Amino acid sequence: MITRSAACLSMLLFAACGPATVPDGPLNVVLISVDTLRPDRLSLYGHDRPTSPSLVQLAAEGVVFERASSHSPRTAPSHMTLLTGLLPAAHGVVNYDLDGNTALPPDIPTLATLLGDAGWSTAAVTGAGNVDAGMGFARGFQSYEQVDNGPDAVAAIFERAAARLDGFGTQPFFLFVHTYETHDPYAPPADARVGFVDPDYAGAIVSDWTQLQPPGASWLDAHTTFWSGVDPASRLDRNHLLDLYDASIRRVDDLLATLVEQLRRAGVWERTLLVFVSDHGEEFGEHGGFLHETVFEECLRVPLFLRLPATERLAPLRGRRSDALVGLADVLPTLLDLQGLDVPAHLQGRRLPLDGSQREEAEIVAHAPRFGLLSLRSGPWKLVIDVGLQRALLFDLANDPGETRDLSGSQPLVVARLLRTLAARQDQSARLAASFAPNPPATLDETAREHLRALGYLHGDR
Ligand SMILES: [Zn+2]
Repeated sequence: MITRSAACLSMLLFAACGPATVPDGPLNVVLISVDTLRPDRLSLYGHDRPTSPSLVQLAAEGVVFERASSHSPRTAPSHMTLLTGLLPAAHGVVNYDLDGNTALPPDIPTLATLLGDAGWSTAAVTGAGNVDAGMGFARGFQSYEQVDNGPDAVAAIFERAAARLDGFGTQPFFLFVHTYETHDPYAPPADARVGFVDPDYAGAIVSDWTQLQPPGASWLDAHTTFWSGVDPASRLDRNHLLDLYDASIRRVDDLLATLVEQLRRAGVWERTLLVFVSDHGEEFGEHGGFLHETVFEECLRVPLFLRLPATERLAPLRGRRSDALVGLADVLPTLLDLQGLDVPAHLQGRRLPLDGSQREEAEIVAHAPRFGLLSLRSGPWKLVIDVGLQRALLFDLANDPGETRDLSGSQPLVVARLLRTLAARQDQSARLAASFAPNPPATLDETAREHLRALGYLHGDR
């Protein structure tokens, strides 16, 4: 017979040994994409403001990738890479209208179709726009909810995501959550600004939704109003943009904490693999512009964090930070592999090195076709091709992370080698694309087109 004091002692010893190990088996996947989020503004990545305390806390339970990259600075191609494991030139999906009009070919499997076929329940709640269902993003999801852009839309997105938890039952599930909260116009709610935004800001930037979109105004009006107040040469305005951006990040982090608590209360957290990621970064004047229209690092680098359940296999990996060069294409094969599912042979992404190992010959290809830009990152080197100007730039990221000194003139052999590698990778993507059905046209209704206008992607120059 175990006495009460002996049981307590046993419990104390157990607690001292750390959390219980979770049995191996199917894991729930919660994939959170925060559109337009550059990692250096997250305290998870060393930012000195408390923008992501929840992620900092979660880091002990997972792996943080310090050098993760997108393969495009555009929303649609980047998210489709995340969900297919294929580079943008292979899946062929581009931002709607300004960059073209393509949806996903019908024969390309997605993370949702692959997990769904294997028995996972699937659901998505997104901010629509360039992740609209009509572009193929809904494929494989049993439900695909889209929330209008607008005041604190992110709260509605996280609320709806939490509401999906009741419907999953005992099945393992895949929940995709996407928000434009950190996309422009940066307009976080008032309570989120406390501690981040100077209430006495004296510039001309309008960042209150009631002023950005008064009754009768369109979404595009809000976007135009926001940027018309920005003086690109003003340090005051640049700092204000960053303050608003930081506050928006903290808003997302607070909602993430709430969602984690809801996952705990639902009794599914210990078996949940949470992925936190973005589709691209954002420029705040580093190369003379704003938004995300280049292939410089501020537009390509993304946060990538995997919270791992404490299964026998994964528990030893928790609490690591990896500086391996990885890309968004690597997420899908990793998630399949962690579930013990077959990884399709056609994928261009590779399994993430969760054990902290390095990769030999790691490369990142990125593409912004509307702007005529291509890039290849390889070792310390970054090659940037401006197709229109027929110009190649070469940067040594190890010594010049801000990409300010073009070394193409002094390193012609490196340029030639990287050009050959880039051409080979482009050829590989073209062959893959030819092996799939042609991209059908996207089927966006007027509501969807209105969302895109809100984001500045239709009939605008941003
Ligand atoms: Zn985006």
